[in-house]
Order: sequence, then C-alpha cells, then structure tokens
Amino acid sequence: IATFDVTDIRKDFPILNQTIHGKPLVYFDNAATTQKPLSVIEALSQYYMEFNANIHRGIHTLAERATAEYEATRDKAKDFINAAQREEIVFTRGTTEGINLVAQTYGRQNLKAGDEVIISGMEHHSNIVPWQMICEEKGATLRVIPINEQGDLLMDEYEKLLSEKTKIVAVVYVSNSLGTINPVKEIITKAHQYGAKVLIDGAQASAHLDIDVQDLDADFYVFSSHKVYGPTGVGVLYGKRELLDAMPPYQGGGEMIREVSFGKTTYNDLPYKFEAGTPNIADTVAFKAALDYVTTIGKSVIGEYEHELLTYATESLQSIDGLQIIGQAKEKISVISYVLEGIHHQDIGIMLDNDGIAVRTGHHCTQPLMDRFCILGTSRASFAMYNTKEEIDRLVQGLHKIKKKLG
Ligand code: PMP
Repeated sequence: IATFDVTDIRKDFPILNQTIHGKPLVYFDNAATTQKPLSVIEALSQYYMEFNANIHRGIHTLAERATAEYEATRDKAKDFINAAQREEIVFTRGTTEGINLVAQTYGRQNLKAGDEVIISGMEHHSNIVPWQMICEEKGATLRVIPINEQGDLLMDEYEKLLSEKTKIVAVVYVSNSLGTINPVKEIITKAHQYGAKVLIDGAQASAHLDIDVQDLDADFYVFSSHKVYGPTGVGVLYGKRELLDAMPPYQGGGEMIREVSFGKTTYNDLPYKFEAGTPNIADTVAFKAALDYVTTIGKSVIGEYEHELLTYATESLQSIDGLQIIGQAKEKISVISYVLEGIHHQDIGIMLDNDGIAVRTGHHCTQPLMDRFCILGTSRASFAMYNTKEEIDRLVQGLHKIKKKLG
C-alpha cells in the first residue's frame, strides 16, 4: 500500500524547485495543465535517445521497439479507464480532438434535422462548439442542462430535456471552472432509456477520480494526457467497440487503411481506422510513464490528499472579506474559482505572479458558465498531488496583500 508523502512527491517534479520573481514557485494552475514527473521527462528523452522510429510499418529493431512501447501505452490506458478491449482506445491529440472526432463521425452519421443534442451549462468550449457545428450542419438542435447557484446540474431539468429526439448527450465529468463532479452515471442511465449515446468529457476527472467506463456504461469517454501528468499533444478517445466499428473514419491517410486503389479504399481495423498518419509517438510512449506514476500512488490516495487541500483552501479563502467562491457543489474536486469584490481577476493574476504564485484568470473557456453567474471571469486555484497547505497559506497572504493595495 502506497503511503503518501508530499515532500517525496515534490522531488519527482523538478520544475517545482525554482523561484519566480525571487519567490519559490507555487503552481496552482493544474486544471490548465499538470507538471510532469521525472519518469515522464526521462521516458520522452529515452525515446529519442534510444528508439526513435516510425511505428507499425517497420520490421527493423528500432521500429519494432517503438511500436511495442506505443502499443504498451494503449494497454495501460485501457486499464486506466477499465475499458474492455484495447481496440476501444484511440489515440488523439487531446480531449478537444476526441470530441471533434465523435461529432464529425458519429454525429454526422447519426444526426438528422429535428434531432437533439444535450450538453450542460458548465461545458468547456471544446464540448460546445463541435456540437454547435454539427447541429448546424444537420439541422439538429442543441439543448442545455441548466445549473443552480451552487454549481450543480439541475437533474430534474435534464430529465425534462430528454426525449425520443435526443440522440447524443455530451457532458463534462468534472467542471474545470467550478470543480463540480457531475453524476455522470445517472446521466448516462437516463440517456440510454431514450436510446441516446453519451460522451463524457473526462479532461478534469481523469487525474483525480478512479475511472471505470464499463461501470459508467459510457459510450464515449475522452481525456488529455497533459492533465494527468503526461506530455502535451496526446489524448485518449474511448468508444464502445460496436460504435467505433460502425463509425466512418475521421481523417484519411496512411495507417488507417487496409487496401488502397484509385477506385476504392478499405479501412483498417480498430483502433487504427481512427489514427491516420504518423501519430505523436514520443509523447504517447512517455504518457505511459505518467499513467504508471499515477496508478502506483493510487488515485484514491491522491484524491484524499487533494480533498484535504480543497477543504483547507475553502476555509482559508472564505475568511477573506469580500471573497466569493464560485461553485460550491457538494461533490467537488480540488478546484477553487473565486472573485474578489471590486478587484479585476486579471489584476489578481498579475499580482499573485509577482509573489511567485501561478493561478489562472479569465473565463476558463467556459463563457456561457460565466454568463450564468453574471461575471466576466474568476481567478482559479487548482491543486494537484504535489501542492501543500503552506502554498495555500501563501495564496491567502497574497490575496490579503492585493486587497490592501487595491481593495
Ligand atoms: N474539457 C475540459 C473540462 C477541460 O478542462 C479542457 C482543458 N482545459 C478541455 C476539455 C480541453 O482539453 P484539451 O485542451 O487538452 O484538448
């Protein structure tokens, strides 16, 4: 059983050991991207130092090794989300590409005029725009599940939206702006009663929660490596095999074909049908080191520690006069969005940076959600397993300083 010692964990993340404007770095922008452990950085450099080669087509030793390592990440990713088969794991560029792939293939094939796609009021732009695009093309309608003041989805309203017209439900598992953990299993069960398929945006959930796509009965599940301590430029699209099999390819090119002639092309088996061209081999190989790192520590251990940070930060921040936390759902991961009365979030971001503290400010690619709360943006602190209570104290001190100066 892994024991969790944040001091040991921090030694694995060399980037944390630096000063910004003369102050030790406090990295609270983990919902945007996480930092990478040494094992990931080393795996990346080992790939280029020892076995860089194009995959799948080669019979020489380097190509065979590169292929084996690339495919080993697929097996690891399958286990990470408990998919039934490795063929159900498609590598993408990230969450955004995964959603676009499903909208442009499954969506284009299955939506017609009058059909409906349901999303929620707390979606990232990447789970809004691809659906708007395909709905517009097909004459389908986008419907939105509203949310309450706490930042919870109104499940009664969701049930009212569901009908025989509903073909696709696409919802975020965990909100990047509010931290809300949505009841996705219930959302999926209800959608299936109407025969609709469900895509879960797992971008923010995958580093914090144990993911079991079979238990959820998700039809599609997407996430990005870079938010799970892995490299940028890689993501996973999980899809149930019978759905992926029936879908047309996304892009045409090498690797996704079985046979090509000028008259007709037949497509490759899963998952290669959806992986046209030379993929991001290096980052995919190194992604496995990230998944290994997280699984070795264990997400329940990580989640428990992060929850401690969340509770501590929520209490500490609430003690600041004029500070309002946006998003107070009962089920949350370690994300805190807040506004300070009379002070622009951008000023907060700049002044915290002067103190060595990295937070994100703005609309967090969730403009409709900001509209819902009648704000332009927030300042957001999002915690990862390497953060500490001392760092949260630094944030609170920094905010007090800002209030004194600008408040
Ligand atoms: N969905 C959510 C909830 C996110 O937080 C993000 C990243 N901020 C995305 C989708 C898009 O992920 P990516 O930029 O890695 O494609």
